[in-house]
Amino acid sequence: MVKNLVPIVSIPEVATIVDIRDEIEEVKSFYFTLDRPEIEEAFKIRSGQFIMCTVFRAGEFAVSLPFSPENDRKHISVRKVGKVTAALHQLEPGDKIGVRGPFGNGFPFEEIKGSNIIYVAGGIGLIPLRSSIVHVLQHRQDFGRVILVYGAKSSKELMYKESIREWQATENFETHFTIDRPEPGWSGEVGFVNHLTAKLDLPVSNTVAFVCGPPVMFNAVIKELKLKGIKEQNIYSTLERHMKCGIGKCQHCAIGRTLVCVDGPVYTYKQIRTLGEQI
Ligand SMILES: Cc1cc2nc3c(=O)[nH]c(=O)nc-3n(C[C@H](O)[C@H](O)[C@H](O)COP(=O)(O)OP(=O)(O)OC[C@H]3O[C@@H](n4cnc5c(N)ncnc54)[C@H](O)[C@@H]3O)c2cc1C
Repeated sequence: MVKNLVPIVSIPEVATIVDIRDEIEEVKSFYFTLDRPEIEEAFKIRSGQFIMCTVFRAGEFAVSLPFSPENDRKHISVRKVGKVTAALHQLEPGDKIGVRGPFGNGFPFEEIKGSNIIYVAGGIGLIPLRSSIVHVLQHRQDFGRVILVYGAKSSKELMYKESIREWQATENFETHFTIDRPEPGWSGEVGFVNHLTAKLDLPVSNTVAFVCGPPVMFNAVIKELKLKGIKEQNIYSTLERHMKCGIGKCQHCAIGRTLVCVDGPVYTYKQIRTLGEQI
């Protein structure tokens, strides 16, 4: 398992929102640059890490980094769920936010070189996986089969439609999409993402899976992957727990003997089960 790195920014650095995109209902992507050029330059991430984002006069919250470590604009994708995220959704290009991090362990790319990779995402579960997908496609020669299985309630609720169009046109990247119910104009699969996962001819040996999504989806997908023979230690996910400090001091995000902010947020399913954690 990857050890977490020393964060580049441990107290909030001011950043400017340079662009905002509507992704799906209540979810927007906020593109930002760090105001101090030396910090902007030094701010390197590993896929799977997160930052603490400050919305001034509202508070701070943990958020995944959906951009790739290379050649990708810095952004976060945020669902409006409470006080701080609602305040963020009020901001406009030119407004300032605070950024601390990046924190956490990230995905273990060195350990999985040469493997087949299966990504399974449900709804906004694609947010923490996007960075890894872009990164793997940028290093396509280092991996075997690379497969994305993505489902949402409706076509409107599929995240990152622009990336999806690019991915569908990418050679050697197998993409499968599904929505819960039929709808006019949709020619893809219909049904839950776990049913689609079950139907597909997926590699099993020398294979790792990354699974993110709501609890019902997560548990159903894990069941299918295990039935196919994929080992628990080769299934990765990222956990979300209410976070305060992000640096392992306050214990708010403790699960079992671990702290999600420093020992996670990436865990194998074997670890999650051993910790007695309920997803
Ligand atoms: C590592 C990590 C990565 C994350 N990545 C993302 C991401 O990429 N995008 C994203 O949108 N979110 C992400 N989150 C989740 C995000 O940090 C939370 O949604 C955050 O709490 C939002 O802050 P808020 O003040 O807007 O909402 P909060 O006020 O914290 O409310 C969040 C949710 O919790 C409920 N809630 C609040 N207080 C209580 C309580 N006392 N009891 C029960 N329920 C309560 C609210 O009703 C709401 O549904 C991530 C979290 C972690 C830990």
